[in-house]
Amino acid sequence: MCLNTNDIAPNPSHFEDSEETATPAHRDIAWNDYKDLIKGMRFFDPHIHMVSRTTDDYQAMHQAGIVALIEPAFWVGQPRTGLSSFKDYYSSLVGWERFRSSQFGIKHYCTMGLNSREANNEPLAEQVMEILPLYIYKEGVVGVGEIGFDDQTPAEEKYYRLQLELAKKAKLPVQIHTPHRDKKKGTERSMAIALEHGIDPSWVIVDHNNEETVKSVLDKGFWAAFTIYPFTKMGNERMVKVVEQYGPERIMVNSAADWGISDPLAIPKTAALMKMRGISDETIRLVTYQNAIDAFGKSGQIDVTDFESGYAIDHTEKFHGNSILRGGQQPVPAKDSLVIN
Ligand SMILES: [Zn+2]
Repeated sequence: MCLNTNDIAPNPSHFEDSEETATPAHRDIAWNDYKDLIKGMRFFDPHIHMVSRTTDDYQAMHQAGIVALIEPAFWVGQPRTGLSSFKDYYSSLVGWERFRSSQFGIKHYCTMGLNSREANNEPLAEQVMEILPLYIYKEGVVGVGEIGFDDQTPAEEKYYRLQLELAKKAKLPVQIHTPHRDKKKGTERSMAIALEHGIDPSWVIVDHNNEETVKSVLDKGFWAAFTIYPFTKMGNERMVKVVEQYGPERIMVNSAADWGISDPLAIPKTAALMKMRGISDETIRLVTYQNAIDAFGKSGQIDVTDFESGYAIDHTEKFHGNSILRGGQQPVPAKDSLVIN
């Protein structure tokens, strides 16, 4: 990307129109400076949009110890013009992107949902609601998400409620995207509505928290997820302070990396920073790995034996006849394979 760094605005997908002046709050550390601190640690990123990321990102994530991730269905940066683009996108989350991830040694899960922004296109939203049940029951779908409020409009509320009912029926966890404008109010409202629908808060992951929202989310029994983003409100130094104050229970960290300025290594970097600040290995393990597995594992779709000892890469595998290898490239032999090619 050719961007003038002076013109960089906060990532619009998750932090649009932040009322505060953006100041770099994300501590960028070079891999060589922190790799020893996190040696042997395994990470689970419960919110990252890999369709927007490169192969370099996958390789760097694998090298840094990310063994599994969840890709929530989201807004792709411009409004979709028809139902087919939703279908193709949902299919890619359980299809090609999952395969691509596997080829870089990372187990890929996803959540399915109609994002809050596009809930405002009601004629299209109606059609999306009709096809969602075809996708939420698929293998590796660990929740309904990311859903909730953006502008906090009546249409957003309508489709949020409908999707809460869908999650209830499918016995799936809910991944809530909280708005960036009026965050406190939007977060409270999202939780109140979930409770109104009779959803057990231990089945709901409230995302994009900050210091202002965390206490209420935890007090009410919900999971509190934090997105570590460069140039925005939640840098990882502040994340360390949140964990120091609240401990690891029901707290998880994610990168929410997407097509904007974001960092797919936010979790390993935050883990390294926590280690530097003297936070225990067990606390780091809970907030960067285990809690996400416990929360989304309620779907019954996560089997840790798939990735806890590393995720085997088999470059001879293909998806519908396609591989990630290019002409002339040789597959890296699977380590555990008896046959040596
Ligand atoms: Zn997202």
